[in-house]
Amino acid sequence: MSDLPTLSQLGIVGAGQIARMTQQAALKLGMTPRLLAEDLGDSAAQAASDAVFAHPDAVAGLVEECRVVTVEHERVDIGLLQALEDAGHCIRPGLKTIRAAFDKMHQRRILLNRSLPVPVFAELNSPDDLIDFATVFGWPVVIKSIRAGQAGERNVWIVESRAEGLRVMSEQAGRPLMAENFQSIVSELVVILARRPGGNVRVYPVVESIQRDLQRHVMRTPAPVGREILNEARTMATAIAEHLDAVGILAVEFFLTPDGLIVNELAARPHNAGHGTIEGCPTSQFENHVRAVLDLPLGPTWSAHKAVVTRNVIGGYDHVDPSRNLAEALAVEGVSVHLYGKIAAPGRKLGHVTAVGDDLEQVDEMAMRAEAALLGRRPSW
Ligand code: ADP
Repeated sequence: MSDLPTLSQLGIVGAGQIARMTQQAALKLGMTPRLLAEDLGDSAAQAASDAVFAHPDAVAGLVEECRVVTVEHERVDIGLLQALEDAGHCIRPGLKTIRAAFDKMHQRRILLNRSLPVPVFAELNSPDDLIDFATVFGWPVVIKSIRAGQAGERNVWIVESRAEGLRVMSEQAGRPLMAENFQSIVSELVVILARRPGGNVRVYPVVESIQRDLQRHVMRTPAPVGREILNEARTMATAIAEHLDAVGILAVEFFLTPDGLIVNELAARPHNAGHGTIEGCPTSQFENHVRAVLDLPLGPTWSAHKAVVTRNVIGGYDHVDPSRNLAEALAVEGVSVHLYGKIAAPGRKLGHVTAVGDDLEQVDEMAMRAEAALLGRRPSW
């Protein structure tokens, strides 16, 4: 029997797959993070001997026990985090960044004030607001929840007509909503960077993100766009991180449109589009997140392979459990399989696979085969 140290280096609010992979990176550095899980079955809680479970005072309890606390998901009361920061606790990335990442209206206003390109947006307080917005900007309109919902809950609807829009608004009554004009998207790009207190920044290779049913499905580096676009995206992301004084991983999602880059969204934590950094870069986004929030030197973020492809393993209506097909997936040589220990459900992210190599087409095919094997399907796009 060993006693737990009274003060842990690192606490994580949340115990999903992002926390699980952050926990793995922290363990490598000799730390045992304390986690605030919502449920005993949460991905990271399964792998922690001392996951604290959510109750009203749990966040306050966690910050008391940890030198630094970081936040994995957005289902946390911002006012409570602000009060804890004001009381002198070290919450990273810090409340300025957390507010910008958690509240999409606030985020859009900050970006607009910095003259960064964002979609046209408006808060939706009544059905008339939607009709007025569509009258000016036309259909389709993109309706978004201003704050993220529960894990797996939908936050974005592209509505083609007044009837469809009003139906979404009535179904989502009680959730603060906003409207955005529909963008014609050529491709979606994500810039992931790590930033230490004091401003030292390392930027990862830009990722191309391919969505299916509005959900991120395939991530590729190198992103198939010109050097100028890549530089512009990196410069904007770095400027945003500096403005917010972000600490840890900051991910900036962009739409590349025929008129240029538009900032879609910020996330202030290791990001789903950055899972390929585990095999693809000398230091993963998870390890650099741990290093950055603890103010330790950052590791290199260059691409160690010519091509890196990650595919999310997303549950289908057949409820196939990918862990049953592990042997078939591992038989695809050169692919790294990550499963999150979650119960299969339609639309749920159950794991991901990453393939690396010299030839993008070959790497793409390997990742596709491993994903299909896990889901018991024939390989397909
Ligand atoms: P989430 O937080 O659920 O990932 P996003 O804001 O990233 O929500 O939107 C999910 C997807 O919806 C985007 O990746 C994109 O494909 C599509 N989308 C979001 N906003 C717009 C928009 N203004 N115009 C066109 N498509 C959009």
